[in-house]
Amino acid sequence: MSTFKAPKGTYDLTPPDSAKYLAVREAIAAPLKNSGYGYIETPGFENVELFSRGVGESTDIVTKEMYTLTTKGGDHLALRPEGTASVLRAALEANLHKAGNLPVKLWYSGSYYRYERPQKGRYRHFSQVGAEAIGTEDPALDAELIILADQAYRALGLRQFRILLNSLGDKECRPLYRDALQAFLRGLDLDEETARRIEINPLRVLDDKRAEVQKQLVGAPLLRDYLCDACKAYHEEVRALLTTAAVAYEDDEKLVRGLDYYTRTTFEFVHDGLGSQSAVGGGGRYDGLSEMIGGPALPSVGWALGVDRTVLALEAEGITLDIPSTTAVFAVPLGEEAKRVLFAVVTRLRRSGVAADLSYGSKGLKAAMKAANRSQARFALVAGERDLAEGLLQLKDMESGEQEPIALDSVVETLTSRLS
Ligand code: ATP
Ligand code: MG
Repeated sequence: MSTFKAPKGTYDLTPPDSAKYLAVREAIAAPLKNSGYGYIETPGFENVELFSRGVGESTDIVTKEMYTLTTKGGDHLALRPEGTASVLRAALEANLHKAGNLPVKLWYSGSYYRYERPQKGRYRHFSQVGAEAIGTEDPALDAELIILADQAYRALGLRQFRILLNSLGDKECRPLYRDALQAFLRGLDLDEETARRIEINPLRVLDDKRAEVQKQLVGAPLLRDYLCDACKAYHEEVRALLTTAAVAYEDDEKLVRGLDYYTRTTFEFVHDGLGSQSAVGGGGRYDGLSEMIGGPALPSVGWALGVDRTVLALEAEGITLDIPSTTAVFAVPLGEEAKRVLFAVVTRLRRSGVAADLSYGSKGLKAAMKAANRSQARFALVAGERDLAEGLLQLKDMESGEQEPIALDSVVETLTSRLS
């Protein structure tokens, strides 16, 4: 161990576990790539105002969790706490919405930073894979995204997750609900901070996890009863499309989500094996966000799935991903001359697309074969001076243990045909 440790609330991904994270990212991305979503990458930091305006001044993310800094040049930046505001900013900046092909469908994968109280499933650095469909109001898009996330989780083998669904209404009907909810909440016995929240963002109070608060919320007005006809019809269509796709969901009228930009459809994927950090992913429609950050009206919908919590969900369900070994051929040279020859063979194998590795340093046969075993290679190639003098190598099948001499000058052909 060195003098240093990973900073509080962070952890490193190291082999062999790191392969799981790659596989999870790939599994979430696969259905998106297959459905017209193009890859987008944005910087790890943005101007603070993008998030304070985009995510919302009253959210936990902006008030408590953002890592902010002032550069030597005087710019106020924040490490990105989430992906949507950045992706929309980048799409607008590149004029993707003007290319005449709406919606703009994008997916991303990367690191996010929040100054939180670290605990299992809650870190200060974590990773997400996300998707956004920008510029079109169409319930089929909301349904598509939920279906694709469901498909990704099922492909990973996950079964103990549930999809919670709600509609937050739009700029017509939400203000009426907000007023009614505020009137109700003001009559409750709540602490000072929560009382303040009633005035800034009353919907967030519904999301309070404390039992003593939840008890008082029985009988609170429900958004469902305030939805305008357009929002109701929109929501019914999303639900019908999910039902037709055989994607099970639960209506959850208390689901509000922690970001200010959501309108209409909101949803969360929760996993029942994760304890209190149960949300593995979430998202929704954000029809007003573009205008909030100075862009044109662009109704959009998206989600982000947490990679860290998805890996924990796999563990909770006892799922081991089938990750194929990366090395196909492991070369074991016996002596200096053999090392030179096998190094050249390995280089040629790699150039022909065969995953190959070599025993480095000056290990004896026993230690080198141990390394070959550990690599989980299908074949080991062993070469000593005597074999080489006859133009031969020993090919060992690591599954059956059988060994046979093969010709050095056709080793690449022999191995490519054996491996196909
Ligand atoms: P929570 O309610 O658990 O704080 P959130 O609503 O803040 O979650 P989102 O902003 O919707 O989460 O992010 C989407 C997903 O990213 C979450 O469902 C979760 O899987 C993951 N995520 C969010 N914050 C963290 C974190 N601090 N550590 C690990 N994963 C996280
Ligand atoms: Mg959070």
